[in-house]
Amino acid sequence: HAKKTGKGQYHFYTRDLNQVVQDRFVLESALQRAIEHNELTVVYQPKTDAAGRVRGFEALVRWNSAGQGLVTPDRFIPLAEETGQILAIGEQVLYAACRTAASWPLVDGQALGIAVNLSARQLKEPGLLAMIADALAVSGLPPDCLELEITESMIMGDVEHTIRVLKSIKALGVRIAVDDFGTGYSSLSYLQRLPIDTLKIDRSFVSGCDRGGKAMAIPHAIIFLGKTLNLHIVAEGVETEGERDVLAISGCNEFQGYFFARPMQHAAVDEYLRSILN
Ligand code: C2E
Ligand code: MG
Ligand code: MG
Ligand code: MG
Repeated sequence: HAKKTGKGQYHFYTRDLNQVVQDRFVLESALQRAIEHNELTVVYQPKTDAAGRVRGFEALVRWNSAGQGLVTPDRFIPLAEETGQILAIGEQVLYAACRTAASWPLVDGQALGIAVNLSARQLKEPGLLAMIADALAVSGLPPDCLELEITESMIMGDVEHTIRVLKSIKALGVRIAVDDFGTGYSSLSYLQRLPIDTLKIDRSFVSGCDRGGKAMAIPHAIIFLGKTLNLHIVAEGVETEGERDVLAISGCNEFQGYFFARPMQHAAVDEYLRSILN
């Protein structure tokens, strides 16, 4: 391909590629410093029931960069997965999330849940189970308050291994959710074999699901499937009251999205909880 485009083009292309490699290296080094200097922080987005009562939060990592402010994960998680830095990041997020969640008050007599995203790299780590057990032990968080989110693509790699790992995590009392459900390529038959508790309907199906016609077809099918398998259903990316309403009528259990609240920093969560408990 490069030959066909001629000498000048080829030269341009390689220079472009060098730039990409260099940008990656700069980002990787900066991320390494961020990991070592605690520039990574965790924000928390509420998940509510149909009545609007908060049931828990999802922990979402942010890079609090001196130069760039709060950098969102799509800018560095894919790179961190390639370099393996996701292991250190995932560890920091898990400990911070468990510690924070353990400090929250009861709501309606119940402890709030905390959902933490896992990456494929973490599932392959032999030390994962011990790390989860330790994060629970040092924070004092009840295991059933912790829910780990995996994606469908993580199931597909080595299915038997994934099932073993997830079963050992479940044995700790921790819950498992399938995130972004409906966007991956996992076979539906795995839903029966995996020890999962929750399906999170991907935002792409939630967005505009109240506009009529076929817009609710997929959310409705996911909710129906989930109910049949005795799973808890969470809709992510709920931005309007209309979306919330049609999903609630369809039987969706929990809702997460800008309609309710944006992800917020630890101190803002405390403020938020104080305001709803008064
Ligand atoms: P996710 O786990 O599916 O998280 C939901 C994403 O949707 C979050 O983006 C959240 O801020 C955003 N969101 C929530 N409500 C709305 C809404 O109403 N409208 C719109 N447009 N967006 C909404 P965020 O925080 O940028 O995270 C993006 C992805 O990065 C996450 O998707 C997750 O896959 C990954 N991620 C975040 N934190 C971690 C982490 O600690 N570890 C790992 N491995 N991945 C993480
Ligand atoms: Mg998630
Ligand atoms: Mg999601
Ligand atoms: Mg998503």
